[in-house]
Amino acid sequence: MHAVHAKDVWKVYGTGEAQVAALRGVSLTLERGGFTVIMGPSGSGKSTLMHCLAGLDEVTRGEILIGTTALSGLRDRAMTRLRRERIGFIFQQFNLLPTLNAEENIRLPLAIAGRKPDPEWMARVIGAVGLGERLSHRPAQLSGGQQQRVACARALLARPEVIFADEPTGNLDSRAGAEVLGFLKASVRDFGQTIVMVTHDPVAASHADRVVFLADGEIVHELHEPSADAVLDTMKNLDTVRS
Ligand code: ADP
Ligand code: MG
Repeated sequence: MHAVHAKDVWKVYGTGEAQVAALRGVSLTLERGGFTVIMGPSGSGKSTLMHCLAGLDEVTRGEILIGTTALSGLRDRAMTRLRRERIGFIFQQFNLLPTLNAEENIRLPLAIAGRKPDPEWMARVIGAVGLGERLSHRPAQLSGGQQQRVACARALLARPEVIFADEPTGNLDSRAGAEVLGFLKASVRDFGQTIVMVTHDPVAASHADRVVFLADGEIVHELHEPSADAVLDTMKNLDTVRS
């Protein structure tokens, strides 16, 4: 069974002369429990694709399914609920609320939904991200890596069907980046979490089950369980084809 299915998705920004087709007929099926990486040059449509798949942005044409739910059929309230309960999102800029401490940030989406987290699961998630002693710290009192681990825990707490991570290590030094990546990998392996991640790092991509390459809004290539060298070669070839 798929976690996410995209069928001939187009996303066009703007009108008239200013039109930009950021996605041009993208079709993609993501299996449950898989770790997929999306790569491609800057401006190739990676963030647009993530936002459309996660229901954060509307597609111009085509259809997206989360499980068996078609996003185009949802009204605002149903969409809000789906995003809150069935989808997790990790942003490059962490997107934590500065006035809340780490634990409050982690609990916030469920609290808004009026749900209490399962205490065992909450303890497991917090243990897994290694934040036990920092739960009462506010974002400003945490390092970038710690803030991103708070964001990871927040995304995992509702046990979403899929987590989207858009360059989650892009603002971190290599050590903190490796920690966050290790945690995301472990959540796939240990919790069966489905993850889709955008990264520019071939080494990070080599940890994925599958790497999908975008160029100019289209899927142009795909690798399965690739080595970092294979990813690097593909990226170089894409650049040559384009220039
Ligand atoms: P990536 O994440 O791969 O760098 P994006 O998805 O951010 O690429 O952007 C893809 C294309 O769509 C780019 O040409 C970008 O300028 C354009 N784009 C993205 N967001 C908007 C927007 N809100 N309005 C207009 N154009 C946009
Ligand atoms: Mg982007």
